[in-house]
Amino acid sequence: HFIGGRYVEDKSGSRFDVIYPASGAVIAQIHAGTDQIIEQALGAAQAAQQDWAARSGTERGRVLRRAADLIRARNRELSVLETHDTGKPLSETLYADATSGADALEYFGGSAGNVTGEHIQLGENWVSTRREALGICLGIGAWNYPTQIACWKAAPALACGNAMIFKPSETTPLCALKIAEILSEAGLPDGVFNVVQGQGDVGAALLQDPRINKVSLTGSVATGRKVYQSAAVGLKQVTLELGGKSPLIIFEDADLENAVGGAILANFYSSGQICSNGTRVFVHKAIKEAFLDRLSARLEQAVIGDPLDETTNFGPLVRDRQMQIVQGFIAQGISEGARLVCGGRRLERPGYYLAPTVFADVSDQMTIAREEIFGPVLSVLDFDDEGDVVARANNTEYGLSAGVFTRDISRAHRVIGKLQAGSCFINSYNDAPVEAPFGGMKLSGIGRENSKNAIEHYSQLKSVYVRMGDVDAPF
Ligand code: NDP
Repeated sequence: HFIGGRYVEDKSGSRFDVIYPASGAVIAQIHAGTDQIIEQALGAAQAAQQDWAARSGTERGRVLRRAADLIRARNRELSVLETHDTGKPLSETLYADATSGADALEYFGGSAGNVTGEHIQLGENWVSTRREALGICLGIGAWNYPTQIACWKAAPALACGNAMIFKPSETTPLCALKIAEILSEAGLPDGVFNVVQGQGDVGAALLQDPRINKVSLTGSVATGRKVYQSAAVGLKQVTLELGGKSPLIIFEDADLENAVGGAILANFYSSGQICSNGTRVFVHKAIKEAFLDRLSARLEQAVIGDPLDETTNFGPLVRDRQMQIVQGFIAQGISEGARLVCGGRRLERPGYYLAPTVFADVSDQMTIAREEIFGPVLSVLDFDDEGDVVARANNTEYGLSAGVFTRDISRAHRVIGKLQAGSCFINSYNDAPVEAPFGGMKLSGIGRENSKNAIEHYSQLKSVYVRMGDVDAPF
């Protein structure tokens, strides 16, 4: 744990192993937070928060921007750690993890001075609003982007003057500790950002405490429901970034190479362990076979191997259990009649590697077209009518992302206008710049991360009415 500006340990907490997914080797052991550790974190956050909030936004922002610089300077070291934690190849982590975290700290560092209210004139009287911190925010992370998630939650929370307690996923507990160290080095006062390790029960215990004012979770819909219910008891604010089963629609006039590239980015980056992935790839019948040919050919160029070798561009899944879940979905796809075009098997090497897998002739009712797989499995579904494909694309409980490939700009905007998803892409997929809001519709979540919208989710408004004249009381 990292509490009050230093590492702390309580060895009476249950011990769990951190496993390097490319080999299955145990690379660290961590003790889950005990009641005493939880109390220590809450105490440290409470002691630090008000002084932090009392600083000017510019001063708070300076600390965040310094942390962003330190992260960039140590990008390689942090990327190697991210690769050890998650198994994602270094060729990805060097560009997508610590760098994205630094972007968030830089962006919200720059925004902190703009966390202001407004003046509302009412004749000679007026109201001024103050945008104030919420207090102590709880961040709970998923395992796929441990550095990025910690930073995406901490940056806006801290910019607004909150303190944060972050509970990483028990599967990838290492990266958030480094972010805590770097924030301290950048000048963050002790106790403003704390990391408490543990499983779901530790997150649940923290959330129940009345000193927690807000929770931001990245995780599954099942956990999202539990967190939302628990937050409701204390009427706490929530941000929920949950799962998806997003559609990617490829029209017959699309640039084929770009569409294939988009489908690869939407399914195989991070071995498919990305919530916003476009896993239902609707391809117009006229180009379906050409699309499958090019996709298969390009997947043969995937370099699968040691994630620490920078030429590798496809790594293992995060853990044995996740690999087994994905294997179960692949078996279901085959038994329900989908055509296996490539992949579908475990690779004969240490670690949790599955070959990039493509199914064709997938129908809307099949399990692989309905449930989130969170692995390297792409499903191709046919269509030939625009209205029909939009209705099918929306026929899901999720609403995280959606994409369209077409050269027809009118059609692109018409279709995107009808898709029920929080993040949409035209002739692209899975871009996540910090300047843009990120989050889901329907079961995919509540609230938005990143962009200026996140400020609203980590602050509250106070209205101050000022009367210039006498008070006109009835008696
Ligand atoms: P989980 O929902 O299992 O866990 C998410 C986090 O919540 C973990 O830290 C977990 O702890 C914790 N947790 C579990 N139960 C509780 C509880 N009752 N109260 C408080 N905290 C709890 O998700 P995974 O980590 O398995 O991640 C995969 C899922 O996350 C996928 O479904 C994916 O779609 C979603 N996801 C969504 C993203 C988005 O931005 N929308 C991004 C990334 C992933 P622990 O695991 O240590 O027990």
